[in-house]
Amino acid sequence: MIPALMPNYNRANIAFEHGEGAYLFDTAGRRYLDFGAGIATSSLGHGHPHLVSEIAKQAAKVMHVSNLYRVPQAETLAARYVAASFADSVFFCNSGAEANEGLVKAMRKTMSDEGKPERTRVICFEGAFHGRTLAMIAATGNAKYLAGFGEKVDGFDHVPFNNLNAVRAAITPQTAGILVEPVQGEGGIRPAYLQFLRDLRATCDEFGILLGMDEVQTGIGRSGKLFAHEWAGITPDVMSSAKGIAGGFPMGAVLATERVAKALVPGSHGTTYGGSPLACAAGNAVLDVVLAPGFLDDVDATGRYLWRGLEALCLKYPSVFTEARGAGLILGLKCAVPNGEVQNAALAEGILTVAAGDNVLRLVPPLIVRQAECDEALALLARTADQFVSRKVLEPAK
Ligand SMILES: *Cc1c(COP(=O)(O)O)cnc(C)c1O
Repeated sequence: MIPALMPNYNRANIAFEHGEGAYLFDTAGRRYLDFGAGIATSSLGHGHPHLVSEIAKQAAKVMHVSNLYRVPQAETLAARYVAASFADSVFFCNSGAEANEGLVKAMRKTMSDEGKPERTRVICFEGAFHGRTLAMIAATGNAKYLAGFGEKVDGFDHVPFNNLNAVRAAITPQTAGILVEPVQGEGGIRPAYLQFLRDLRATCDEFGILLGMDEVQTGIGRSGKLFAHEWAGITPDVMSSAKGIAGGFPMGAVLATERVAKALVPGSHGTTYGGSPLACAAGNAVLDVVLAPGFLDDVDATGRYLWRGLEALCLKYPSVFTEARGAGLILGLKCAVPNGEVQNAALAEGILTVAAGDNVLRLVPPLIVRQAECDEALALLARTADQFVSRKVLEPAK
């Protein structure tokens, strides 16, 4: 018989009872170091006092009112993002896929308003991930996510990642813009070359099309800058973010320049829950922490420290780990053995990680992680690798 909870996930047989900082405790009381952060989402870790109290305070006042009324918490949060980023205006929603839907709608509407309604298509990249709605599985383009779901939503063209010639060759009079992740997350922690991002910016300007950035996973400090595109010294025209934006409370956002934002006139786009007082209280609490002096520098320093440790692991265990990649605290270890098996072996050692594409083990700890916890993670990953080394000795045939 089918479980009451729909069986659309392969869940590990483990449930967590509570968390504290970078640690989670299961229902049996065992402690795990959380280097998955609920897929790069629990950006302040677990039980962060400021986030917890801001959510509790707002929940007691009012959680939801709808967008029929002003929401001061949303006005404040939007103004803070405008002050801290390229954006002139911000739309709040509830997830990464919903943010990307809004981003693509905003791109198309901008072109339409500018007298080019034929410019509807968006160039995306092989290895991308943009979410699970009907349009976003088409934007993602991965056959695995499209299979069985009928007609693919039209309007997305795919080219190889980090290949400017392929991008330029794919631009047609129907192209509205480009959508790129500065670091492909689900695709295997594959960073865009900074020069590639700069070339995309220049190409969009040359053709009068829009540069869209999917920072659902890389945004809100994860790369060591508030947004990862800042490393390239360029700005997009429109950007999505989500995951870490409210520290685990469901929230997404579309950040846009005035050129793009002004296309979304009243009635053109909306969402019932988006930008609620409760979600924005969580979002403001996250920004209080992430924008505090020195916080992003600490993320950068901790990321570099962890990276050096991962490189050392690759040198010590070349039969298990072959390459460290990523930026800030969105890091990956390319595996020489199946990454799902490494993830399970790591779980058995007491560290949570997330598998990604390209046979990569993803390490996306809370941004508040300390060097001592990175040392512990590296030791647990070394023990994980030892499991595979000794397995090989025992089973030389495999
Ligand atoms: C997770 C993710 C999404 C989808 O976000 P959801 O909140 O699951 O809809 C989109 N883009 C990127 C880059 C992501 O990592």
